Amino acid sequence: MKFSQRLLVAIERSREDLSKMRVTHCDRMASVFSVEELEELSGSFGCSFLVRLRQGTCDCGEFQLLHYPCRHALASCAIATMEWGQFVDPVYSMHSVFSVYRADFPPIPDESFWPKWNGPRSGRTRACDARRKEVVISQPWHFLGECCDVRLIG
Ligand SMILES: [Zn+2]
Repeated sequence: MKFSQRLLVAIERSREDLSKMRVTHCDRMASVFSVEELEELSGSFGCSFLVRLRQGTCDCGEFQLLHYPCRHALASCAIATMEWGQFVDPVYSMHSVFSVYRADFPPIPDESFWPKWNGPRSGRTRACDARRKEVVISQPWHFLGECCDVRLIG
């Protein structure tokens, strides 16, 4: 699978830190690893991070947040001779990137034709308003306070 250039740059930047980490536990079958940082990398010197490659998680939180291997996961892949690309979410593939541009983008009309903006709304969504009306109609014995906050009277 081909990945976006941004992902490859991020992975390469993380791989520069591989020599500053040590894998202290390696269970290749379960794809569970423990990785210790040997140098100051992100205010976590001496910390040990539990990596679960198959679940896509690491104690640092980056793996599950960004959906591609963090530096600890990359260290785990390196020690277990596993290819890191299999743990990257398909959203980072070039196919996904190009799919964004598959749709037609209509030309934007001249700004003079745009509807007038009247400032920010109350924050309530139309769906929320519709649901509120629906509750009023179907359950007239309820009193509605805040948006979608239904309270009983008496
Ligand atoms: Zn991590």
